[in-house]
Amino acid sequence: MKDLKPIFPEIDIKRPIIIAGPCSVESEEQVMTTAKELAANGIKIFRGGIWKPRTSPGGFEGIGEIGLPWLKRVKDETGMLVATEVANKAHVNLALDAGVDLLWIGARTSANPFAMQEIADALKEYGKDVAVLVKNPVNPDLELWIGAMKRIYNAGIRRIGAIHRGFSAFGKHLYRNMPQWRIPIELQRRYPDLPIICDPSHITGKRELIASVSQQALDMNFAGLIIESHCDPDNAWSDKNQQITPDVLNVILHTLVLRDETTTTENLALLRQQIDRINEELLELLAKRMRISCEIGQYKKEHHMPVIQQTRYNELMDQLVKNGEDMGMSEEFIRSILAAIHEESVRQQLEVVNGKNL
Ligand code: PEP
Ligand code: MN
Repeated sequence: MKDLKPIFPEIDIKRPIIIAGPCSVESEEQVMTTAKELAANGIKIFRGGIWKPRTSPGGFEGIGEIGLPWLKRVKDETGMLVATEVANKAHVNLALDAGVDLLWIGARTSANPFAMQEIADALKEYGKDVAVLVKNPVNPDLELWIGAMKRIYNAGIRRIGAIHRGFSAFGKHLYRNMPQWRIPIELQRRYPDLPIICDPSHITGKRELIASVSQQALDMNFAGLIIESHCDPDNAWSDKNQQITPDVLNVILHTLVLRDETTTTENLALLRQQIDRINEELLELLAKRMRISCEIGQYKKEHHMPVIQQTRYNELMDQLVKNGEDMGMSEEFIRSILAAIHEESVRQQLEVVNGKNL
């Protein structure tokens, strides 16, 4: 994906790009009240879901195309640009005909190459270089995310951005969708010119965590934020636990700190040297751990024992998670790092058992 263009040249230069508005468009009054409050607080891009992909049937599936003229009213009366989610060809055509400025593709759609191709074909046929933001697929699959964006790119669209909205995981967690920051970071490494926008609303699922995740995203140099904001969040028809009023949003935006990426001081250089050294030590320790693990593999082989002993692994994991949390690290981080170490260790033990390392 080369020669990408800014999503909105007039807004893009003044980062972060902020997109705000309700999860769902519910009524003309709700849209206009929310939009006017957001515009008064300086928001330039308004979001509102017209078609809602709900995980389970029976939820509010969106007001549908009757809501499109309300978005048009937002544009005309507030001067904001408007954004909505599209999931098929009909949505693309209806939204573009109604003057929607920015389309986003939801996490359940970007996971589906058939739907992505249908949307890409519709965009190509429409022939307008509209701005398109592609949310990460629900599952943590970077290639699938990139594939979805490439389909849009191949349709001739150059104003492409990505939205990081976290990845679903089984069970109860602090976040509604796990951030797994290393995935958007790797995306940015591969495509330095691709703007990546963070969606703290869908990552956290909770109002009280939006500020901290927004700050983390800015600290990681994300290009912007898309935040769900509703004039009456407690009575929202979808995602009410994560929506905030325009005024709360305004407070959050004013408390966010934009760090200057170009300031490097001597202190920073010294700290970086320390990090480099610690990284080397970490690698050496890991290699040492692997060597010991291979010796255990040899022992297991001689005594006809299975390589994986699940109970020991679970007990060890629980204890280390507890210790790690006491040291100020998150459970998610400890679990993922230990799982990765364990996986490599099992791989090496299996090589020993299968005779490759002898
Ligand atoms: C949304 O933005 O309201 C939405 C449905 O998000 P996601 O696709 O990230 O679940
Ligand atoms: Mn939502």
